[in-house]
Amino acid sequence: MKIGVLALQGDFLEHQKILESLSVAIKQVRLSADLNGLDGLIIPGGESTTIGKLAVDFGLMDPLRTFAQDHAVWGTCAGSILISKDARRVQPLLEIMNIKVDRNAFGRQVDSFEIDLEIPALEKVSQENPPFHAIFIRAPLIEDVGSSVKVLAKLPNGKIVAAQQEKWLATSFHPELTTDDRFHRYFLEMIR
Ligand code: GLN
Repeated sequence: MKIGVLALQGDFLEHQKILESLSVAIKQVRLSADLNGLDGLIIPGGESTTIGKLAVDFGLMDPLRTFAQDHAVWGTCAGSILISKDARRVQPLLEIMNIKVDRNAFGRQVDSFEIDLEIPALEKVSQENPPFHAIFIRAPLIEDVGSSVKVLAKLPNGKIVAAQQEKWLATSFHPELTTDDRFHRYFLEMIR
């Protein structure tokens, strides 16, 4: 199995490290040719407008959309914005997943926070399945999901922060910034 990590901007190295610790081969993706032979792709956290503009400049938008048609894609934070169909403003979006996101929904950088979340879906990769320590850094909320989208995690106030549509996964928070590899293993299971 070989997983690509979109490496234009953001915390792609953190994803890479977790995948390497799981003995998964990885490829940093900067050009469309880098997508050849990959089984899945992670779009990291960072700044979604910047990643989107670079993806346009690098001619990656259409190759990424084509790749997503028959491969698993996971977006964390800024990545979840990029794969959404609607981010309520004009910016380059891949429009892969049928979710609407609200960027910077919690406010400014200083309003970033961490919280333990119950995520039943992770039972697939963890028998005991303790709460997942979720890190939100100027994060988006998933405001609305289409009918084929499964909600995986909510905040105590009921707001959606993780969702899956078949082979596509979106998390508003950053599993790559923790030492908990359950979401990465869940993504690998989705591919298998
Ligand atoms: N605020 C960023 C955006 O809207 C996302 C932040 C992050 O990825 N931690 O793109």
